Amino acid sequence: MFCWQARPSCVLVTLTKMNDVIDFEIIDERGPQSYRATFDMTAEELGREEVVGLGTVAIEANVQAGDLEDEYVAEGIVTFTADLTCSRCADPYPFANPSAFHVRFRPRPEASVENEEVEITDEGELDVEFYSERLIPLRELALEQVLLSIPMKPLCDEACLGLCPTCRVNRTREKCSCEETVFDERWGALKGLREELEKKKNV
Ligand SMILES: [Zn+2]
Ligand SMILES: [Zn+2]
Repeated sequence: MFCWQARPSCVLVTLTKMNDVIDFEIIDERGPQSYRATFDMTAEELGREEVVGLGTVAIEANVQAGDLEDEYVAEGIVTFTADLTCSRCADPYPFANPSAFHVRFRPRPEASVENEEVEITDEGELDVEFYSERLIPLRELALEQVLLSIPMKPLCDEACLGLCPTCRVNRTREKCSCEETVFDERWGALKGLREELEKKKNV
């Protein structure tokens, strides 16, 4: 059921390796920089149990200085394929969703005693990330974007009927008899109600 494309050759990995860290010093010196890299990641690295397999992750990013001091803006796209488990029927299904991203890196404010955690309350500040090091591994950025683009509740299909709560049969593929029983019971209850009403009417 799981069929993976051949992993990229070692040659390709070596070539992209040279360019797999965003260095803010270089952006200060030479202006905006473009990056492109591919990474092999495992489903385990993502730490999401809905992800059962992950193909090669490709990232393209343009990074330039932002409006604020020491702010850098990264824009780009992450492309990957994955096998996710449907949250309704538990079947694995292929997922591919190239996701565009926009991240603003700002220096991590120094935590004072009374304010240990920096809260981001402003809307529109959701794409801000704080950095301590002026080197951002592209791999980390890619991993983060993959995580963000995987749905919280993955569905093999919007119309997935899920599993029968009684016999656990996949109701999209198979029709079980439990459904009919439930239907019969409901119908029976309705019939009983109608009989009651009839009786009352006749009293
Ligand atoms: Zn499903
Ligand atoms: Zn059933």
